[in-house]
Amino acid sequence: MGKVAIVTGGTRGIGEAISKELIDKGFTVAASYGGNSEAAAAFERETGAKSYQWDVGDFEACQEGVRQVEADLGPVSVLVNNAGITRDGTMHKMTAERWQEVIQTNLTSCFNMCRAVIEGMRERQYGRIVNIGSVNGQAGQYGQVNYAAAKSGIHGFTKALAQEGAAVGVTVNAIAPGYIATSMVEAVPGKVLEKIVARIPVGRLGRPEEIARGVSFLVAEDAGFITGSTLSINGGQHMY
Ligand code: NDP
Repeated sequence: MGKVAIVTGGTRGIGEAISKELIDKGFTVAASYGGNSEAAAAFERETGAKSYQWDVGDFEACQEGVRQVEADLGPVSVLVNNAGITRDGTMHKMTAERWQEVIQTNLTSCFNMCRAVIEGMRERQYGRIVNIGSVNGQAGQYGQVNYAAAKSGIHGFTKALAQEGAAVGVTVNAIAPGYIATSMVEAVPGKVLEKIVARIPVGRLGRPEEIARGVSFLVAEDAGFITGSTLSINGGQHMY
């Protein structure tokens, strides 16, 4: 099977750990990013892998991005939809822009990216897609109607696309991380974070590498019977 993997948001945070894990597993990784070219350059220096800049919320940019990756590296057999943002605020203060930005970047991006790779995967009768959801899409979270809706949408999207891909060798799964130590979580105020950690039975934040392990399990060639599932990696915070 081809061994080219695209990891969106793959140059820092959880995505960086996923990229590195897949490189270790022998994949040629194309790590996409949004605008932080310093992090992308550091990633390229450290790993020797290529990074690509495009906005995952922009349909045409995603089609062009995938065309470029395939021209450079060959057919894409693995897609990890990891790029995401938060723009928190309670409903009575939430602006339409914050709603739209989070839906676009976290959920519409999965459509944009899957649309770009799905025909090739179907033709080649092989593909592995992993979408990064969230415990907050499963359980909800105060101040995150936009983010919880987008992540919950990812879980439904995953199950629907899994049904379409099952007979043609394309598996589609989701991972629902709990709280993982990255810049996204560093943005949570200290007192709030203390309360969150107190509710995690394992008693600590997760590590990006712990999500990456789940991805490499789901994208393995011998994981073909696992599709439409959500793997929760959350230290026991939400069991369901
Ligand atoms: P970070 O904020 O550390 O990294 C986000 C990544 O997404 C960056 O590489 C960023 O690119 C990229 N990105 C953001 N917007 C866009 C865009 N419009 N186009 C292309 N790329 C973009 O986040 P995390 O590593 O913490 O999170 C990764 C994923 O895991 C997200 O989907 C998040 O929702 C999810 N998650 C995270 C949890 C956590 O506790 N950290 C918990 C549950 C889920 P750039 O570097 O250019 O800014």
